[in-house]
Amino acid sequence: MQTLRTLEALEREGLVAAEPRLADAAQSMAIAITPEMLGLIDRADADDPIARQFVPSIAETEIAPEELADPIGDEARAAVKGIVHRYPDRVLLKPLHVCPVYCRFCFRREKVGPGGEALSADELAAALAYIRDRPEIWEVILTGGDPLMMAPRRLADLIAGLDAIGHVGVIRIHSRVPIVDPSRVTPELVTAIKPRRAAPWLGVHCNHPRELQPAARMALGRLADAGIPLLGQTVLLAGINDTVDTLDQLMRALVTARVKPYYLHHPDLVRGTGHFRVSIARGQELMRALRGRLSGLAQPTYVLDVPGGHGKVPIGPGYLAGYLGDDPDALPDELRVRDAFGQTHRYPG
Ligand SMILES: *Cc1c(COP(=O)(O)O)cnc(C)c1O
Ligand code: SF4
Repeated sequence: MQTLRTLEALEREGLVAAEPRLADAAQSMAIAITPEMLGLIDRADADDPIARQFVPSIAETEIAPEELADPIGDEARAAVKGIVHRYPDRVLLKPLHVCPVYCRFCFRREKVGPGGEALSADELAAALAYIRDRPEIWEVILTGGDPLMMAPRRLADLIAGLDAIGHVGVIRIHSRVPIVDPSRVTPELVTAIKPRRAAPWLGVHCNHPRELQPAARMALGRLADAGIPLLGQTVLLAGINDTVDTLDQLMRALVTARVKPYYLHHPDLVRGTGHFRVSIARGQELMRALRGRLSGLAQPTYVLDVPGGHGKVPIGPGYLAGYLGDDPDALPDELRVRDAFGQTHRYPG
């Protein structure tokens, strides 16, 4: 079984009906659905949460005025080719643009795909020189595309190159491979990223509890056994994981797969993705519900990437407010704190 890459292949699988407008949606971003993800799709469910992530829909042809080609301002912060430098102490390094699957809501929708070029050897050398010349860079975040799509030997060379830069303390890799194509997590790949001098961390992108099947859990286990701490990144998506039960199951499934939930991303203003967006008020309501019922280990931070390249900020909910009561004995700086069960208490500011 091969990765499905064309509209015709999706039609043959019965995942889409022949519909001319779908061609426009398909043209705006590459298609890829791995056999693992295909196997998880429930054909009887027209709104299947796995299919919805990867199968193009005509809703993608609807572009809202507030949607942006570069929603998080990567271009504004591009330093040299392949590097995005937004925070003083850390950079993104994007060695390639291919991914094992293409997520229809991707925040780099207009950049990723098989047509997108990888960095040449010279460009990669220039990116490493940029990092080497800046002692303030403490963390390098490999992203793309998906860095675990690199041949293990090339990846090992890149990581060894970064490891040789003394001021780089952390090499973080962001990937969807362990979940969507776990057979790629071979001993060779694990060896390429296992700890050397600099500490490796791996962020895995996972949006639905059903994605954590035994093969994916085993791939994550191989990485964790090699000493690589694992973090979870989830995009909050309408119709996929925007209920308390789904998020509860997802966060628990991550923690039992030895992955610490790190961020729950508010969906970015990507062109043609309005059908995936949830309001911030709804996101806060979901987070509030999780706080009351899930272990602290399983709590992600809900973040927004501020459009224009201004970075990520936590967007609540907050549990503190100024004291608005009319009690004459209230102290001037008194606060109200809301507990996880919805009750409010006074606290001296
Ligand atoms: C998301 C991001 C980071 C990493 O942010 P953390 O909050 O450290 O996870 C770094 N640089 C850029 C440009 C980013 O978009
Ligand atoms: S794997 Fe990540 S970078 Fe690739 S399409 Fe999905 S969200 Fe985008």
